[in-house]
Amino acid sequence: MSSRCRCSPAPARPDRPERTAARTAAGVQVARSACGRPAGGPNDPLLGGGTIRPVAEPTALADLALEASTCTRCPLSEHRTQVVFGVGNPQAELMFVGEAPGRDEDLQGEPFVGRSGKLLDRLMAEELGIDRSACYIANVVKCRPPDNRDPRPVEIATCRPYLAAQIDLIGPTVVVTLGNFAMKLLLETTDGIRSVRGRSYPFGPGHLVPTYHPAAALRSGGAVVAEMRSDLIRAKRLLGWSS
Ligand code: SF4
Repeated sequence: MSSRCRCSPAPARPDRPERTAARTAAGVQVARSACGRPAGGPNDPLLGGGTIRPVAEPTALADLALEASTCTRCPLSEHRTQVVFGVGNPQAELMFVGEAPGRDEDLQGEPFVGRSGKLLDRLMAEELGIDRSACYIANVVKCRPPDNRDPRPVEIATCRPYLAAQIDLIGPTVVVTLGNFAMKLLLETTDGIRSVRGRSYPFGPGHLVPTYHPAAALRSGGAVVAEMRSDLIRAKRLLGWSS
């Protein structure tokens, strides 16, 4: 945990209106106390004192990762080997958001390092011409659900401020969601990925492109991979990376 006074001015990246907009798009209230720092705490009336508790707003991604590394806010902390916060370029224009760490990710501390990650890396290279160091990759929840079960609503809600703060600090132009969980959370919809994918959506100052989770593509085969490719091409156009 950073020892810097959270009332002090940000030493790294100043707040930008578009970052706040991205955060708002991610569904997190940025309540501030009279001194300008984020308000918070379980009894904060601005935040309802409910399930979604704010994380203290750090001024850099590293501070946030450090804070998350010891997080015990939800029961997933009991089963993890380590928190899988995220990886990549903290100033990335492109951000991928998946579901939850799996076994390999839990052991290595990095998102998408198993078979799904290899497919994601391949599609990124072939359709976008980049490797993972050029983007940022994170998950909806930062700790592995036991037996790779789906993350529960309360776990997603509890972990959500971390993702919102990541989006806020990185300020990507395009967020590509991988699978149903990230798409439903960030678009605030109950519709399924099959009906939602195939187009982009306004997201803060940028765009959100929903696509399948690579694990679904591994299970389902060529047709789903082809749809993922077309979604990445859509993201590439929105980024202005197409010739
Ligand atoms: S999943 Fe998120 S909220 Fe739950 S313990 Fe891990 S970092 Fe904390």
